Amino acid sequence: MRFNIMDSNCAKDHYDQSERLESLILRTPIIDTHNDFPYLLRVQLHNEFESNNNFKFDGKLESHTDLPNLLKGRVGVQFFSCFIECKDEDYKYQDFNKPNSAVRDTIEQIDVVKRLANVYSEHMKYVRNSEEALEAYYSGKIAITMGVEGLHQVDTSLGVLRRFHELGVRYVTLTHNCDNPFATAASSVSAGLPDKGLTPYGIECVKEMNRLGLIVDLSHVSHKTMLDALQTTKAPVMFSHSSAFSVTPNSRNVRDDVLLKVKENGGVVCVNFYPAFISTNKEKTATIQDAVEHILYIANLIGWEHVGLGSDFDGIPEGPKGLENVGKYPDLIKMVMSVSSATDEEISMLMGENVMRVWRQNEMTASLLQKQEEPVVESNWENRVWKFFKYAKDFPEIYPGSYTEKKNIYVDSQKLDFSSK
Ligand SMILES: [Zn+2]
Repeated sequence: MRFNIMDSNCAKDHYDQSERLESLILRTPIIDTHNDFPYLLRVQLHNEFESNNNFKFDGKLESHTDLPNLLKGRVGVQFFSCFIECKDEDYKYQDFNKPNSAVRDTIEQIDVVKRLANVYSEHMKYVRNSEEALEAYYSGKIAITMGVEGLHQVDTSLGVLRRFHELGVRYVTLTHNCDNPFATAASSVSAGLPDKGLTPYGIECVKEMNRLGLIVDLSHVSHKTMLDALQTTKAPVMFSHSSAFSVTPNSRNVRDDVLLKVKENGGVVCVNFYPAFISTNKEKTATIQDAVEHILYIANLIGWEHVGLGSDFDGIPEGPKGLENVGKYPDLIKMVMSVSSATDEEISMLMGENVMRVWRQNEMTASLLQKQEEPVVESNWENRVWKFFKYAKDFPEIYPGSYTEKKNIYVDSQKLDFSSK
């Protein structure tokens, strides 16, 4: 369905869009909630960028992201994704006890983002909260923060989730393209697995995220997970990189019934620029106009208060025509200005105010819950395999009977294989 956009000959077009953008950008940062550049550093450079003479972030790179383009694109706040793959090449796997290196690898990605911000500190600043992000922006720097793309990256453990938050992660996507002990992914449902939504442990996890102030990101999750999470959360959610299903029917996009719930929840859907998510027309390449259409569709259905930008740059092979890299956000915003009747206030919401609101409200919910002494969610995943060497039983008991309170497996072997098989 094409959105009814204003006639390009209308009077609005004569207004200088650049001037309008310049005046709005004084107050409102352009925020992108999903950029995968750190994954390129991992795969191609093993994160060894500081000693690499061929790598100059402040020069021209072949990737969608480099510093000159971030500056040209007037990016004010960048959420870098600390993405690590699902732990099995078969995305339908269900053995969540399978040994893996997701936690180490995620911490390495957190490390590389912080180092990147530090090395290029003339233009970027790593920030810990929404207030610091605005301060950094107003002092002329790009605020850098992080998201983790899938709860498989906490490897079943809420203790890991808490420490990711302590290390500066500000949103966690409930799944990537694989199920985990917390939730069902959109891709596994498309592959034929049942949509179980959020599990009871997933509900506990969302509660813990609210208590911590970690934004619940619903990109990549199944339809039922979206609905369950929206019902559970006490704070506004984010879709860090998803577009509108009614415009482009793809399971990674957000259906209208969910969009309406996002409106009730006060959340934000940040539009993904991936050509396959914004256009179904195989005859013609996706363009910046397709991205605009998704933005307008969401704004029209649930209001400008609930739409933002989540490019997925460097996590996709290429951007749409006219929106090829991080230097193009001003073109996108000016096009939205020219084809819609959005007010300055509404354009500011799209640029970044909605994401700032969601971020701030998550912080406020967390401080309220902590003030109310909401207890830490201490529980572990019920099917976790706890395996130890037999000699572990030779150590002192904490109190009489404490050794037998929990179900453990004790092994002789030198091989501590934690998988359930
Ligand atoms: Zn993604």
